[in-house]
Amino acid sequence: MPTIQTSKLNDLKEKAKKLDETDVLAQYRNQFHLPQKEGKPCIYFCGNSLGLQPKSTQTFIEHELEKWRNKGVEGHFTGEKPWVAYHTNSKSSLSQILGAKQHEVVAMNNLTSNLHLAMASFYQPQGRRSKVLIEKGAFPSDFYAVYSQIETKGLDPKKYLVELESSDGSEYLPNSEVVHKIHELSNELALVIFPGVQYYSGQFFDIKSITKAAHEVGAYAGFDLAHTIGNIPLSLHDDEVDFAVWCTYKYLNSGPGGVGGLFIHEKHGKNKSLSRLSGWWGHDAKARFKMDNQINPIPNVDGWQLSNVNIISHAAHLASLQIFDEAGMLHLRRKSTLLTNLLEESIRSSGVLSENIRIITPSNPNERGCQLSLFLTNHGKEVFNKIVKQGVVLDWREPNVIRVAPVPLYNTFSEIVAFTEILEEAIK
Ligand SMILES: *Cc1c(COP(=O)(O)O)cnc(C)c1O
Repeated sequence: MPTIQTSKLNDLKEKAKKLDETDVLAQYRNQFHLPQKEGKPCIYFCGNSLGLQPKSTQTFIEHELEKWRNKGVEGHFTGEKPWVAYHTNSKSSLSQILGAKQHEVVAMNNLTSNLHLAMASFYQPQGRRSKVLIEKGAFPSDFYAVYSQIETKGLDPKKYLVELESSDGSEYLPNSEVVHKIHELSNELALVIFPGVQYYSGQFFDIKSITKAAHEVGAYAGFDLAHTIGNIPLSLHDDEVDFAVWCTYKYLNSGPGGVGGLFIHEKHGKNKSLSRLSGWWGHDAKARFKMDNQINPIPNVDGWQLSNVNIISHAAHLASLQIFDEAGMLHLRRKSTLLTNLLEESIRSSGVLSENIRIITPSNPNERGCQLSLFLTNHGKEVFNKIVKQGVVLDWREPNVIRVAPVPLYNTFSEIVAFTEILEEAIK
């Protein structure tokens, strides 16, 4: 196995050092707790799975614990952030991150629950128009959710769930093939549910053109942004996306199992007659405590809320969002592109790639976010275990992929070159 030639390696180290020195986001690393192994900070390339804990999270949570200790139930209506309206505190930041209006986004529940709630509204099969289009190899939870939604409508998922595979059978699914399939399904298509960034391949799909195609054939378009939010800037409102769902414990650093979120475009939010599953928190806030059982949904995304807010989880969310407000998505994306480009360059020049070891994430920076997926035909798990032993945190996805995700808030350029040396050693 060839090794990175010393001169090339030195060039990369020099380049990484310069990039670190001029990195305008460098100070953010110190705002996070970095996991340690044997007294040294790990190279943490797993923010795509569980983002690191901001140092401020403890203070945000402690604030709410103190309020609970001292005020009890009065905490719902008193203080700077009354619990009764706590969900409104994340709207400004989320709207920035998602390119949405504040009344189009709400933090609530978890991703899969929100997908079910959105489908209860946007999947209304009618005769021929009953099919749902997803990508082949969709994340299992999304697959189960869509499958069961079709079943609960009394339809056969084998007939109505369409899983799109690329024409050459590879992991890369050209966006044009998605658009083509939508037109082909035409008036049989009720709903498209696609990822922003696909969790396995790391491919980023073009949300705007998929949405446009869906609307052209009279279908709705919804997106799973689990791996997209906080990773790539979005423009959900202008792209006229019908709905989107996400979790916040990946790039958004809001803690394990943390609160998820829902986007509903304002044109649907206003439509009170849209079918939905209801709960008291989606009901007109002024009349919520009248207990009169007159359903009157809030005329925006808040009308999809079911339950009162999980304050502890939401407090952790706010701590992280404050950092995103300061850093800004455009700065983050700019650094992220440099990090991932350097990762690709570094791996390519190491000479470890072959027919059996490939990067399956697109090379085009516009078709990916932070993550690169390394596909290993053989011994993938062994290589993965060796890398982990060296103090690198990343993740393994069955059947063949190591996901590597340098994150602009807390990773450095030098870590990328250090990782490549470890990777090369592990593959030897
Ligand atoms: C992480 C992830 C989920 C997680 O779902 P939860 O309901 O938050 O447990 C769902 N879908 C995708 C694509 C994911 O990557």
